Amino acid sequence: MNPIRLMAKMTAKGLLIDGSGFGGGSVVITQHDVAGAMGMGKLPAEAVLVGRAKFSDDNQAQLSLAGWVQTEFRRVCMRNGWKADYCEGLATLCVFELVYPMRCSHCMGRGKTWQQEPEQADDGSLLRMADRWLVCKPCKGTGQSVLTVRNRAAIAKISKSRFSETWAARADDMMKTLYTLEDMVA
Ligand SMILES: [Zn+2]
Repeated sequence: MNPIRLMAKMTAKGLLIDGSGFGGGSVVITQHDVAGAMGMGKLPAEAVLVGRAKFSDDNQAQLSLAGWVQTEFRRVCMRNGWKADYCEGLATLCVFELVYPMRCSHCMGRGKTWQQEPEQADDGSLLRMADRWLVCKPCKGTGQSVLTVRNRAAIAKISKSRFSETWAARADDMMKTLYTLEDMVA
């Protein structure tokens, strides 16, 4: 089994963190393709890791990326005088969220759903309710949902209260960095 997925599963055992909720999808691009394509650009090493970890389901790259994220967290903690005890768990969480975004259960990842909308006549009176294929409201059209605070805290191996008070925002900052790297790859 995929190591990052396994780590997340083990730490969040019993918290509904397995199975169909995660939009893994089928991999149509081979690891070789991705590695080759990225070798041609002038990407920083961590961006290449992000690309390999996310787009070619490369286990080794996921672990290497987790190592990089952990080091980054440690650096940030040192700089700010924060406790550095949680860097490993936070790194697992960030890589997991990056690589296995959860599918929105409302639209099943499609980003749109059939919704009933009132159709009005020119005088403003209601003609009928019409079915329209519209942007999914819960996920705002992204097709993805986020992990609950409880699950995020469990994966990061931090108590829920401590996580939401202190570490959630810091994890989000790291996610922004990772998404920036992902954009560079794309
Ligand atoms: Zn949705």
